[in-house]
Amino acid sequence: MHDDLIQIAYIAAAVLFILGLKGMSSPRTARRGIVWAGVGMLVATVITFATPGMGNYVWMTAALVVGGAVAYVAARRVAMTDMPQMVAIYNGMGGASAALIGAVEFMRPGTMPASFAVLGILGALIGSVSFSGSMIAFAKLQGLIKKSFLFPGQNVLNLLVLAAGVALAVVIALQHTGNMGGGQMLILIVFYALVVLYGVLMTLPIGGADMPVVISLYNALTGLAVGFEGYVLGNGALIIAGIVVGAAGTLLTQLMAKAMNRSLGNVLFAGFGAAGGQELEAIEGAMKESSADDAAVTLAFAQKVIIVPGYGMAVAQAQHKVWELAKLLDERGVQVKFAIHPVAGRMPGHMNVLLAEAGVPYDMIFDIDEINGEFPTADAAIVIGANDVVNPSARDDPASPIYGMPILDVDKAHQAFVIKRGRGAGFAGIENKLFYADNTRMVYGDAQDVAGKLIAGVKKV
Ligand code: NDP
Repeated sequence: MHDDLIQIAYIAAAVLFILGLKGMSSPRTARRGIVWAGVGMLVATVITFATPGMGNYVWMTAALVVGGAVAYVAARRVAMTDMPQMVAIYNGMGGASAALIGAVEFMRPGTMPASFAVLGILGALIGSVSFSGSMIAFAKLQGLIKKSFLFPGQNVLNLLVLAAGVALAVVIALQHTGNMGGGQMLILIVFYALVVLYGVLMTLPIGGADMPVVISLYNALTGLAVGFEGYVLGNGALIIAGIVVGAAGTLLTQLMAKAMNRSLGNVLFAGFGAAGGQELEAIEGAMKESSADDAAVTLAFAQKVIIVPGYGMAVAQAQHKVWELAKLLDERGVQVKFAIHPVAGRMPGHMNVLLAEAGVPYDMIFDIDEINGEFPTADAAIVIGANDVVNPSARDDPASPIYGMPILDVDKAHQAFVIKRGRGAGFAGIENKLFYADNTRMVYGDAQDVAGKLIAGVKKV
């Protein structure tokens, strides 16, 4: 009876995870989804204390208190723009936990069924790679590692390290099914060292602009590792949570790779910006400045205006002012639409979250496929702190590191206004042809200040 209750509680937790994930698929229900998944995690954690044969309650409680306190403080303090780093750390912890479960199981004396040994060691391998890879991803996004390490023969070296790790994984699995003996501890240590090293080597050459895809991939891998270790522990909730995370992470990885028009193989093995080696197309013309007042006049008399937010809007926290401006234009009879690029900002859905927070209705927000055809009919497009996602080089210059990434066709609008503080590059660190175009005017300043001036300017008209 006691056992049944525990299993029922785990299944309830798993159902809550699934419902939570479903909720997270839309900005309208995302908050509810987070709460449901959190309750699921709470149920799963509490019920684990009641598992028969469980011990180490003091250690478990201490880990929960310390981990929970650190996570609480970190989550409250983190800036929205630093969220990908935070996800990378948490995801790395998940991978490490799966790897440690594997280590504990393989350190126990005695044999285990073949399926346990195979899935256990696979979970340990994948979890370790995910752990060290996520830590490097964190360091890159945080700016602690600024370079992409590329050298000849890198892929061969990586492959050799992985092959050695896999060979030891086979040995460990054979030892633990009783088909082989001897030297177990040392082999286990060398195995973990190799696979952790592989995660580092695999992630170091990947450039910052590809990090969202990589983090999402590691997220999927962590899910898989957790699912495998859940099987070894006979824990249904862990298996289902792992599968859910693994499947969601895989889909998100595919979506993001598609949004950047890169294949996963290209992201992982090409090294960002390393492909091509051709001369970048020279940019002609000069950047032309406009005052906020002049821009406001054009906006006020336009019939259709498309607003393109990017990372700078998030930094400046300008979303409320931008929405105020949009409402003002709307009241004047201007048709206003928001265009969202899937990787604008620093995490998937970043702009959607900010605009939703400011109260922009969903029917004014359009994704790249819906809106791109409309730029030629827009009298003006206002780019607010976006750069890479509106760079026409991605469309026109095969030598550009971001060539092939779909972009919002702001250059096709009759008039483009770009709000940014100065000549700062975007995330990919490259020049933007749009800023030099004849129909582009730069409105320099912090996005929130400029939005305020545009509001004042439109009111004066
Ligand atoms: P970018 O990072 O390309 O450009 C942002 C621009 O905003 C900069 O050029 C900067 O110029 C300007 N800016 C910064 N602060 C302010 C401010 N306070 N006020 C006004 N402007 C400001 O942004 P995008 O959104 O166009 O592109 C996102 C990039 O991030 C892509 O390369 C994408 O691949 C990458 N990425 C995306 C992730 C995702 O999942 N969305 C995750 C990780 C990376 P200046 O300094 O002159 O003001």
